[in-house]
Amino acid sequence: MTDTTPAGTETPPAGGTAPSEWRVAGKLGPEKTDALVISCSDRRYRRPMEHFLFKELGLENYDLLAVPGGVYMLSFATVLPKQLKLGMQMVKFIVKNHLVPRIVLIAHKDCGRYREGFASWMRRPDFDIVDKQKHDLQETVEALRDAFKDVRVDAYYAEEDIGDSVTFRPVGEA
Ligand SMILES: [Zn+2]
Repeated sequence: MTDTTPAGTETPPAGGTAPSEWRVAGKLGPEKTDALVISCSDRRYRRPMEHFLFKELGLENYDLLAVPGGVYMLSFATVLPKQLKLGMQMVKFIVKNHLVPRIVLIAHKDCGRYREGFASWMRRPDFDIVDKQKHDLQETVEALRDAFKDVRVDAYYAEEDIGDSVTFRPVGEA
């Protein structure tokens, strides 16, 4: 057999073949969760966000719904009704099936989804994308509080600092 492994990829151990399964440490526990976190899928914020949720909010076991723009999928009912419907279906499924007591919404500065979605608005002198994101967070907080009366809903806005840190600030009355 000739070696057809592309350069730069892992080669199987000498004399062996690549494994057909991988066993990793993990104890799953019940599906019930501490919270549902809805955030942007941007990988840059994932570690700081995990740190914030665990160390600062005490949320160790949370479900994560990470999509481009986070609450972007739950906003714009008039222009993107199908997106909102799909988003709410996903949220309802998790809240109902995983007995969610709390929803945490997190948006971040310089979000690519918002930049693309509002590209044509950026030149308007009265348009501020950070204000828009915070407005959408607040509106989504209210919509989710309406939809899930027994669920606590808070929102935070994350921003990279000068230096190696990220600050999370509550939006609205979080
Ligand atoms: Zn983003």
